Amino acid sequence: MKTIDQTVLKNIVGENNIKTDPSDLYAYGSDASVHHAFPWAVVRPENTAQVQEILKYANQNLIPVIPRGSGSGMCGQTVPIHGGIVLDMKRMNKILEINLADVYCRVQPGVIDDDLNLALKQYGVFYPPTPASSRIATIGGEISNNASGVRSVKYGATRDAVLGMKVVLANGDLVTLGTRTRVEASGYQLHKLMVGSEGTLGVIVEATLSFVPLPEFRCMGIANFDSLQDAGETIGDIMASGTIPSMLELVDSVAIKAVNKTMNLGLKEVAAALIFEADGMVREAVDYEINKMTAICKKHRGKDIRSSYDSKERAKIFLGRKKLFPALSKYDDNLASTSLADDMAVPYSKMAEMAGKIHEIADRHNIVMTAYGHCGSGCMHTKILMDTRRKDQWASAKKAITEVYEFVRSVNGTTSAEHGIGLSKAQAFKIEKSDSLNMLAAIKTALDPNNILNPGKISQAPENWVTATNLRYSVNS
Ligand SMILES: Cc1cc2nc3c(=O)[nH]c(=O)nc-3n(C[C@H](O)[C@H](O)[C@H](O)COP(=O)(O)OP(=O)(O)OC[C@H]3O[C@@H](n4cnc5c(N)ncnc54)[C@H](O)[C@@H]3O)c2cc1C
Repeated sequence: MKTIDQTVLKNIVGENNIKTDPSDLYAYGSDASVHHAFPWAVVRPENTAQVQEILKYANQNLIPVIPRGSGSGMCGQTVPIHGGIVLDMKRMNKILEINLADVYCRVQPGVIDDDLNLALKQYGVFYPPTPASSRIATIGGEISNNASGVRSVKYGATRDAVLGMKVVLANGDLVTLGTRTRVEASGYQLHKLMVGSEGTLGVIVEATLSFVPLPEFRCMGIANFDSLQDAGETIGDIMASGTIPSMLELVDSVAIKAVNKTMNLGLKEVAAALIFEADGMVREAVDYEINKMTAICKKHRGKDIRSSYDSKERAKIFLGRKKLFPALSKYDDNLASTSLADDMAVPYSKMAEMAGKIHEIADRHNIVMTAYGHCGSGCMHTKILMDTRRKDQWASAKKAITEVYEFVRSVNGTTSAEHGIGLSKAQAFKIEKSDSLNMLAAIKTALDPNNILNPGKISQAPENWVTATNLRYSVNS
């Protein structure tokens, strides 16, 4: 292990903003994934100049630097597998400008998504990518993972909302990428290259984001299905019908059982449910969209269909989906909910088959898997519920993941819809992108020749995710 000169770092950020206590290093060694590895230090910069100084020092001394927002990434993106400095960006949390005339805002990377939306709400606008983790996710983390959320089906993912940014490169140089205008055809779109780069190409210190008007009307509906196949086909049909839902979410039987068990919601334990929503400025237009979606649900044997404009009713309909992630952890006292093959995207016409395939694979490998997600955007989530103390369960999980991703590739889907690659999905990612891995590696070398920025990720990600890094769990037998 290289040594870090703490005096240099203390001179840059002050004594209180560097952590080397073992308990802090332990906490910063994992995110919401299954992985863990210890960093050598945690450093918390307050401004761009400090980030530049830290990177200059790290680059000269070949010390890895792992940018980090709130550490809610599900795939091990912030896990420091080669040690180094975890750069906690949460102190850079100012909203710098809300420009209503030019329809953009500028923020520092540590701004929490919900805080930004709270600030925008008073002007009748919102920042739409908004993942389910918006209460904790930072804008820097969202950009670096290309996060999306329930409303991305209508309003797009993070990539669609990022107009420009300021980035500190590995050598400490500060560059301005992109623009503040809606369109740009001035050469390579380098700001878009940063989106989804998982902290491997530079440290984002400022972002310029677009926003959209808050709709006057929102109407949310729910439909139950006795078969996953019917629910999956409904998704495809809605998306091909010319309707533009502002939300289209799937929850399967495992998900429904989990929320019933933990929150006593009393939901009917059917094979699947679809939550759909339409929004807009004109009530008749929203009615039209909701009626069309309702009719398509009925065509596919959807039942118990109801919908409401009332905000309390909408919150009730959405509650189970909103609280699903923690609920899955309590599905069975002996099973932990793990993010392994946690999200993928497949063409709409393959949604039903994908959901069925997840269950079939889980049954065959004696683990529990759930199928849910922002299916209107083609996104399918899974969680693997297993006894993480048992070696054989890890082996089963690994086989299941391999089969899930074989299926995803066979239908021209992609390894990650929104959660990113990190460590958990490295193997599948490398197979999917095998003919462009050299391009990815060349970009990385050009921007970070000393390989200090989040090394061991994206093109360098280790393929054997179980043994390459320590797991957060102790595995007994
Ligand atoms: C309960 C739960 C629900 C979730 N739901 C969703 C969802 O609906 N949609 C979705 O997309 N994701 C979801 N996620 C995953 C995750 O929350 C998002 O990807 C989120 O955007 C990560 O933000 P963060 O601040 O925690 O980033 P982190 O996890 O800290 O970092 C993510 C990546 O960004 C990099 N990074 C962070 N800041 C910077 C910076 N300033 N410059 C350069 N690189 C940086 C890191 O190196 C890392 O590679 C969920 C997670 C949880 C735990």
